[in-house]
Parts: sequence; structure tokens; C-alpha cells
Amino acid sequence: MHSPAERHRPSHSRFSPIVSGGPSVVQSLRTHAGARVPFSVEFNPPRDTAGEARLWRTVREFERMHPAFVSMTYGAGGSTKDRTARITGMLAQQTTLLPVAHLTAVGHSISELRALVGSYADCGIRNILVLRGDPPGDPLGDWQRHPEGVEYAEELVRIVRDLGDFNVGVASFPQGHHRSPDLATDTAHLIAKLRAGADYSITQMFFDVEHYLRLRDRALACDPVEGAKPIIPELMPITSLRTVTRAEELSGRPLPRAVLERLRRAAGSGPEEDRAAVRAEGIEIATEMAQRLIDEGAPCLHFITLNFAKATGEVLTNLGYEVTAAPLSA
Ligand code: FAD
Repeated sequence: MHSPAERHRPSHSRFSPIVSGGPSVVQSLRTHAGARVPFSVEFNPPRDTAGEARLWRTVREFERMHPAFVSMTYGAGGSTKDRTARITGMLAQQTTLLPVAHLTAVGHSISELRALVGSYADCGIRNILVLRGDPPGDPLGDWQRHPEGVEYAEELVRIVRDLGDFNVGVASFPQGHHRSPDLATDTAHLIAKLRAGADYSITQMFFDVEHYLRLRDRALACDPVEGAKPIIPELMPITSLRTVTRAEELSGRPLPRAVLERLRRAAGSGPEEDRAAVRAEGIEIATEMAQRLIDEGAPCLHFITLNFAKATGEVLTNLGYEVTAAPLSA
């Protein structure tokens, strides 16, 4: 039985070549949707050999937790292109995990983007998260289209879909993308990406579940068919006051005052932050958000891991997921 969204696939996809590489994200969400809401995790390309060794330890820990998929980000402007492609290929070929490759348009011509997608297909990757990307160096700086590239992610969705039966995800923004003039326009652009052939979206990280719920309502109101495609919420457990800065960079917004106050209270008033207390509070905040998202029917919980397994494992344990008792890294 096909969902309404599947019945309305764009017609060009009917002629797309078959790409081998395991299930699609959407199929995997269905397979993993049993007693518990599926979860998934995001990795980043490691900077050096030590970082790569740590990533592989984390990968093996997550293998035992059975995420629905794992995604690998793409360094700004293709800065980590070769390492990212190699490791994502290894995830597909040497682990039991289902990898999703992030692909960004920054600094690439259309022919380079096609070649990149082809290289992912060659190593058995058919799940791609299609993004425009931000200007390297300053994410808020002026966007410069590559002279032979694309202007918006929507165009790249079409290109990837025309290359084969890739399962395509896109980005969505609970509080609106920072370049969108208003939330209605932002939602219309998300729906355009879904109409172009994207199968689901993953949100920008947020710390107020209401923003996620309102995005879901806006998407459904804008287009009852496309808006019903999975909107996967992205979460990041805060483990120190330093990760607050990272979280604000990634979410593009300051943390809600109530969340910041909880973390600052945990940090205490001494000269050094009480790291154990901040970490415990951060895990608690992520657990509360995840539980609310589960109660509200989120299709999956997508965790930013910064290439560590422990914090995500703790949140999942708090939620009652069966997480291995084996020791976890950091
Ligand atoms: P688009 O959908 O192209 O939107 C960009 C802006 O243009 C938005 O304001 C949108 O409203 C507007 N717009 C879209 N279509 C139109 C149109 N037809 N006419 C006028 N305006 C339009 N960045 C990386 O560099 N590497 C990563 O791995 C990465 N992973 C990410 C993962 C997730 C889950 C998320 C949420 C973001 C990620 N990003 C990543 C950041 C992302 O690349 C930036 O947020 C980027 O600024 C927006 O990308 P997009 O794909 O949403 O762009």
C-alpha cells in the first residue's frame, strides 16, 4: 500500500536508473518503527587520523544500538570532500549501518555534483541529503552561486532524482531559514523541495519542541500531500557550556532563555563550570524534548553526536531504549 506522498512522486523519477545500496531512509523508518520510535545519528568528517579512529569506535558502538540510518555531513565548500566520500563509502561497505551522504552545492559545478553523486552510487549509497550549503568561512555571508552550479537546493534535488532512484532528504527549519523573509515563504520553499522529489526532511536543531510542531502544521497546511512526508527532528544533547556555542552555531539561533538558565544554574557560580552537573542537565533537557517528540508522533529522532556515542546512548537509555551495556566512548 503506497502512502499519498508516494503516489504523487514526480513523473521523471519513473524513468530513473536503479541504484543498489540497501533500503531507503523512508523504508528503514518503516522497518524500525516497532515498539519504539526509530532514531538516527549524524557524524562529521574527522579532521585527522586520531579523529577517524575515534569515529570508528563510535560507529561500532552505534552499530549495536541499531539506528534507522546514520548521516555524514559534508564540510563547507567541499573542504573535506575526499575524506567524507571515503568514510561514507566505508560505512556502506564495512558496517551494518545505513548511511546517508550529505551533499552541498557550495563551490561545485553541476557536473562536479553529478560526479559526486555517481561516486556515492558506486560505493552503494542511495540515500542523499541534498543541501545548498553555506558560504565557507562565514555561514551568514553573501551566498555565491558557482557559475556553473545551482542557486537553490530544489534544483539539486531534481538533478539527483534524475540520476537514479536515490532516496533524497532535504533540510527544514523549525524557526525558518535565516535568509527566508518569513515563515510562510520558508515553508513554501520546503514544499517546493518535496515536490521536486525529496522524500523527507531533517530539521535544523532546535530547543523548543513547539517550533517543530508548528513547522509540521505549516507544512501540512501548505500542502497536505507533500507536507505529510516525514519531518525528522534533529536533537543535540548539550554536554558542556562549550557545546552551547556549537549548538547556537548549528541552530542559527540563541538557545531559549529557559534552557540556558537551566544549564547555567547547573554550571554553578564557582570559577570552573560544574561539568558533570551541566552534562546531566543537558542530557535531561534532550530526554524531555525527545519524549515530547515521541508523544507528538515524530517519525524518528535524529541526534547530532559530534562523533561520540555516550550522550546519545544516555538519552536513549532514559527513554527506555535497549542500549548496549558495553562501555561507551566519551
Ligand atoms: P535552500 O533550500 O536552497 O534554501 C536556501 C534559502 O533560499 C532559504 O532561505 C530558502 O527559503 C530560500 N529559497 C529556497 N528556494 C527558493 C526559491 N526558489 N526562490 C527564492 N528563495 C528560495 N551545511 C553544510 O555545509 N554541510 C552539511 O552537511 C549540512 N548538513 C545539514 C543538515 C541539516 C539537517 C540541516 C538542517 C542543515 C545542514 N547544513 C549543512 C546547512 C545548510 O546547508 C544551510 O542551512 C543552508 O543555508 C541552507 O540549505 P538548504 O538546503 O535549506 O537551502
